[in-house]
Amino acid sequence: MEHRRHNQHFILAARPVGSIRPGDFELVEAPMPVPGAGEVLIETRYLAVEPAMKGWMEARVDYVAPLQLGDVMRGNGLGCVVESSHPQFLAGTLVMGPFGWRRYLVSDGRRVPLSVLPAGVAPTAAMNVLGITGITAYFGMQDIGRPQPGDTVVVSGAAGATGSVAGQLARIAGARVIGIAGGQHKCEWLLSELGFDAAIDYKSEDVAARLAAICPGGLNVFFDNVGGEILDIALANLADRARVVLCGGISRYNTRGPIAGPANYFNLIYRRARMEGFIVLDYQARFPEATAALAGYLASGQLRHRETVLQGFAQLPQALMNLFAGGNMGKQLVAVDILHN
Ligand code: NAP
Repeated sequence: MEHRRHNQHFILAARPVGSIRPGDFELVEAPMPVPGAGEVLIETRYLAVEPAMKGWMEARVDYVAPLQLGDVMRGNGLGCVVESSHPQFLAGTLVMGPFGWRRYLVSDGRRVPLSVLPAGVAPTAAMNVLGITGITAYFGMQDIGRPQPGDTVVVSGAAGATGSVAGQLARIAGARVIGIAGGQHKCEWLLSELGFDAAIDYKSEDVAARLAAICPGGLNVFFDNVGGEILDIALANLADRARVVLCGGISRYNTRGPIAGPANYFNLIYRRARMEGFIVLDYQARFPEATAALAGYLASGQLRHRETVLQGFAQLPQALMNLFAGGNMGKQLVAVDILHN
């Protein structure tokens, strides 16, 4: 018997003030979209959350258009084509794309650009390593960090989605890799599964003392996801000609008002070092290069991954809030329960 499907969206109900709260979102009933000629109906299976979403909700960033109140939350998803008259995306195909926080959506393959889940890759691994954070790690490390064999590379936010891939890419390049993460369980994972050479728990250890002890020759690359005090400590420990990759600064995303700059930036001069920010969207034309390389490392077992999955569409706000509380190891995802009524 054919079930009637049931659609829901999450919309932005209020702009966050300080931390994100559940009331910043509203779960709304939405009409079931009907695919036209050349279109597909997609049933969402997984949605990914990223810290950058907070900047879109606040209208604080200028590299993408801000969300307006009432807009469906943006976000990348993976789903199954359940109806199709599109020659490329047949019913039953698993596809990925910028779905937004919707249970069901319609696409012609371009309006919401779709890519087919590569054969042999688990959906959750694809959302993680082949998704936007894996690609961010790839370009930030390969193009800006440029680790050389024997280099000392330090990654902050190392047990998160971007950091865990970035650190492993540096290891694959032959560097000695040190991760900074919050909690002994996260540090254990970096050492025992991901092949990091050392790990520092910033919540229970003296980061400045440990970094100086572990890296007597200084840092050749610092890949920063966190900013603030940890960035300042890294700047004080640079090697000559170091590369500081500014990927993110999550320790400052809940700060209201002006954000203090790093006190130790003069060391960039003394060490003839370079500090460079980047936005992954600028690399769009080269995304296939990144996904091919990352898929190759996944297939060969050189790149390990982990996902923290909350169950249920209604958990999306909680999943996003988790990122700011360090509740995730690896990539934070939501598995969307399929409703039929
Ligand atoms: P993630 O690292 O998987 O999750 C965020 C992690 O940040 C948490 O697990 C937590 O780990 C850490 N954290 C939270 N609050 C913190 C604080 N106050 N101080 C220190 N660490 C804190 O998230 P992601 O999606 O991979 O993003 C990581 C970073 O990359 C973010 O800064 C994001 O904005 C940035 N990013 C940049 C680009 C770009 O184009 N430049 C693209 C994607 C992502 P602990 O438990 O270790 O604290």
